[in-house]
Parts: sequence; C-alpha cells; structure tokens
Amino acid sequence: MSNKRLAIAIQTKICLICGRQHKDDSAILMDTRITTEETARKREAEMSQPSDYGDCNECKANKEKGIVLIGFDETKSDFTVKPQGAGFYRTGQYLVVTEENYKRFPFPQEHIDAGLKHRCMFIPEQLALQIIENSK
Ligand SMILES: [Zn+2]
Repeated sequence: MSNKRLAIAIQTKICLICGRQHKDDSAILMDTRITTEETARKREAEMSQPSDYGDCNECKANKEKGIVLIGFDETKSDFTVKPQGAGFYRTGQYLVVTEENYKRFPFPQEHIDAGLKHRCMFIPEQLALQIIENSK
C-alpha cells in the first residue's frame, strides 16, 4: 500500500456582490502529481483558497427577483482592486428592490441604467440605511 495520492479540492470563489466565499458551481481542482499524504494535505489547503470570482447562488436568485443593493463605505474601499467590486468595503446592508421601485430612486440615469443591466448596485451606507428606514 502506498501512502501517496493526488490532492483534490473544490474551488472556492468570492461573490462580488455579497463578498462571501462560496463553492457554488465550482470546479473540482486536482493536482497533477501524486505526492505524499503530508504534501497532498498542504496542497489541498492551498487549492481551497479563493481562486476566482463569481456570483453565489443566493445572489443569483436575488438578481432574478430584483435589483440587489449593497451598502458600502467609499472611504474604506479600494477602487484599484480588480475585478471591480473586489475592493469595496461592504457595510452589511443587503437589499433587494423591485425594478419599479429601483427606477424611482434619486440616482443619475446612468446609475439607474447600470443597476438594471448588472442587477446590482453598490450604494453609500447612509443611503442604504435610509432606504431601510423608509421601508419600515
Ligand atoms: Zn453573493
């Protein structure tokens, strides 16, 4: 019996909408060389680190229902991080609004159009809190 084997892990992605790490619709990653158990475990830990970006199932479902609004803090965000959204500092507000309601928000038309196209929009934390307050 050999104690050597292939390292196998499920790819972890980061959702650019909610920022959560997930394994929804992820690939199975397999090492190309048979290694010792110890090395295989190390490789599996490395391979389990987030290696891609993609919407999680929950955000995908919410984008079907409406426009997802994510509260963020501009001053704590890093806009240079690619892809866009990866460096946004999320402040914890997560709202799903209908298209009809979204079109009534006091945003510039280009923001309305972008939100309708991408089905999500990052909005300042204060605005997110205000929308939550107004919906009570
Ligand atoms: Zn998500």
